[in-house]
Amino acid sequence: MKPIRMVDLISQYEAIKSEVKSSIDNILENAQFINGPDVKEFKSELANYLGVKHVIPCANGTDALQISMMALGLKPGDEVITPSYTYIATTEVMGLLRLTPVFVDCDPETFNIRPEEIRKAISPKTKAIVPVHLYGQSCAMDEIMEIANEYGLYVIEDNAQAIGCSYTSKDGSVKKTGTIGTVGCTSFFPSKNLGCYGDGGAICTNDDELATKLQMVANHGQSKRYYHDMVGCNSRLDSIQAAVLRIKLRKLDQYIANRNNAAEYYNRAFASVEQIKTPARDFQSEHVFHQYTLQLDDSIDRDGMVEYLASKDIPSMIYYPVPAHKQKMFAELETRTGDLSTTDWLTTRVFSLPMHTELEEDQLKYICDSVIEYINK
Ligand SMILES: *Cc1c(COP(=O)(O)O)cnc(C)c1O
Repeated sequence: MKPIRMVDLISQYEAIKSEVKSSIDNILENAQFINGPDVKEFKSELANYLGVKHVIPCANGTDALQISMMALGLKPGDEVITPSYTYIATTEVMGLLRLTPVFVDCDPETFNIRPEEIRKAISPKTKAIVPVHLYGQSCAMDEIMEIANEYGLYVIEDNAQAIGCSYTSKDGSVKKTGTIGTVGCTSFFPSKNLGCYGDGGAICTNDDELATKLQMVANHGQSKRYYHDMVGCNSRLDSIQAAVLRIKLRKLDQYIANRNNAAEYYNRAFASVEQIKTPARDFQSEHVFHQYTLQLDDSIDRDGMVEYLASKDIPSMIYYPVPAHKQKMFAELETRTGDLSTTDWLTTRVFSLPMHTELEEDQLKYICDSVIEYINK
């Protein structure tokens, strides 16, 4: 059996090695490190894949969120409704820009932000909603867009974990996550579903005017060379990362299928294990399984489980042990919170198993047998 990794980028690389090497070599030969042809090609290939008008690449997913909030003109004191149950980057940028995150609770089944809680959190200061498509499944975008339209709010989708996921609206239309709201932000961090070999990110939108502004903010607020109309930042996707992403984008659907196969294996193995709740599915959303996250019931010692698996060379993770509203980072900052009891409870019970594109059946069997062994001990 191959060694089990939380994310196995080494085995994945084996299959695309020669393509990657020749692409990178070509960039080295031509010294087109910044804004080379691969960046332009990747922009249009990703736009085409997502079915969106504009893709603005940037340096990472955190920047994508920050640039979006800056381009939309969000100002200190503006309230932004967001889940507390997410990776810290989502809410950290709000702190950085001195916006006021308004933390709302998530759904105990899908882990995603609850539209009815968003509605309750709206105030005259609310400017935007930042839904996070957590673990690879879309938020309830029909309801979220309805609320946004009703109150005139921007929707900034944090799509870092769900690139490639399709969402079917009640009217039957199908869209990729990240293309439904005002803007969509994604990350190409190596372990993400579409990952490069360093840092990378992108923003997408169907709004022409906003696309120009996003591009300006990402490039020193520059409207034409050496003319800077606003304070921006310096956030680029380099050519080598774009070349890697072009190769991996062509395989993204296959990668998603592999992740789904692994998830199905886990689901079957745990179907009759009472103490384990397998990931719930939202019928309007596909699942691209960035993470395979279980809920363990109170009878299971979660730390004991992690240790037991580690003793058998099986990595596992807790995504996320501390929700945003309990992070010290926000202690001195303006925030608002409602009832976050589901979030607080979930952070004590969630448990993620290895999930990637290269999981093999003998590995899956060994992982599942070991989890069940621990429960029956
Ligand atoms: C990874 C991630 C980000 C940040 O992406 P980076 O490229 O690491 O900056 C933002 N939000 C979520 C939900 C993420 O998982």
